[in-house]
Amino acid sequence: MSEEKKVEKIVGIKGMNDILPEQSALWELFENTVQSVLKSYGFQQMRTPIVEATPLFARGLGAVTDIVEKEMYSFEDVMNGDKLTLRPENTAGIVRAALEHNITYDGPKRVWYNGPMFRHEKPQRGRYRQFHQVGAEALGFAGPDIDAELIAMCQRLWDDLGLVNVRLELNSIGDANERNLHRTELIAYFEKHKELLDAEALRRLYSNPLRILDTKNPSLQELVNNAPKLLDFLGEESKAHFEGVQSILRHNSIPFTINPRLVRGLDYYNRTVFEWVTDELGAQGTVCAGGRYDSLFTIFGGKHTPACGFAMGVERLLELMKLNGDAEHVSGCDVYLVHQGKQAQMQSFVLGERLRDAGLDVVLHCASATGIGSFKSQMKKADASGAAFAVIIGEDEAAAETVTVKSLRADDFANNQTSVPFDTAVDYLVDQIVGVDHDESQCENPNHIHIHH
Ligand code: ATP
Ligand code: MG
Repeated sequence: MSEEKKVEKIVGIKGMNDILPEQSALWELFENTVQSVLKSYGFQQMRTPIVEATPLFARGLGAVTDIVEKEMYSFEDVMNGDKLTLRPENTAGIVRAALEHNITYDGPKRVWYNGPMFRHEKPQRGRYRQFHQVGAEALGFAGPDIDAELIAMCQRLWDDLGLVNVRLELNSIGDANERNLHRTELIAYFEKHKELLDAEALRRLYSNPLRILDTKNPSLQELVNNAPKLLDFLGEESKAHFEGVQSILRHNSIPFTINPRLVRGLDYYNRTVFEWVTDELGAQGTVCAGGRYDSLFTIFGGKHTPACGFAMGVERLLELMKLNGDAEHVSGCDVYLVHQGKQAQMQSFVLGERLRDAGLDVVLHCASATGIGSFKSQMKKADASGAAFAVIIGEDEAAAETVTVKSLRADDFANNQTSVPFDTAVDYLVDQIVGVDHDESQCENPNHIHIHH
């Protein structure tokens, strides 16, 4: 015992969260919904490594960006001196892999990803050092149709997740030459008001003045609001593209507001940029951000491949689901097996396998450090498990080759216990569960997790 006390506890890394069993039902609901919505638009999943060569991000994202300047987990591989970085985002990795495997050789591709990203930021609500993004990338598509499709896909996802208070902000940041024209005017404007700029803005005045528009400093808001607008510098093609996106959105009744100040934090974007924002999450209100990046393939040495994509912050969306959802996220099993006595234990194990053969989700009560536990304590576990039914095999049942089936979710608790022959228990339970499933499907709440597939 005294030895145990001496052992120093090792704790998790600050800003990196453990996702615990009771949280995983919500994660699974989110991920399953994402998967089915993205599949319904023909997107295919890609899984790239969480570690990439550091220059990939330095070159791809741009040197004068929050991420590359101060947020990357970069390190040297002590085994061989390679310079590596835990991915802070996944568009660069996807494009790297797309080029490496030439996946657009036979035409454009729609792909998506889901996984952890790493940024060394100050941890706070909605901002973590390991967080998760789901992203979609439409590779090789040039027109406004795909931009609108990506946005419609997000809208469908919010609807399916039961999220209501998310709104779309849209802008066009034009092409490189248009941004250059604007940049000259922007620098001249900020030079005129140099005394109002903060340190970060001064630092970016000549390296990345567009990013000053994205400042979160409240005292700069008025200055930034009156700055020259990129929208006024768009040429005919960029204008037509932007108008094209808007007209598809209007035609499909997807509301949006144009935010002329919306720029993206990364260098590779052009033309369409968008953000989905909510007022319900405090300061970290952007749940999804995206845009067009027609030049990224060439930045990485590939041939010109227009593309558009988005990334959503999973933690922020889950937070929103919790706020919006009015139901408990229960994901109980179908059956919890309770038993008392050696023979009953054997029978329970066999019954558990048979029930799983029939497609049910079953938890068999197993011994803990303190033993198998009394009947009463097992029933408590059965209740807590969220199971629809407890199946009880005591010594009497074992001897009589019967089981007792107890409904744990019935309203009528007085009348919810039945004795069933062991050999017909599987059929009986399958009937019962399918019956429950049928009722559950009438449930109006989209956040409800069905207890059976
Ligand atoms: P912010 O302005 O909030 O720092 P960003 O521009 O850095 O956002 P993106 O790089 O566009 O964010 O990432 C897309 C989405 O990923 C964000 O809209 C947000 O929902 C989520 N996200 C970004 N950084 C974090 C983080 N540190 N923790 C949790 N979610 C994040
Ligand atoms: Mg950021």
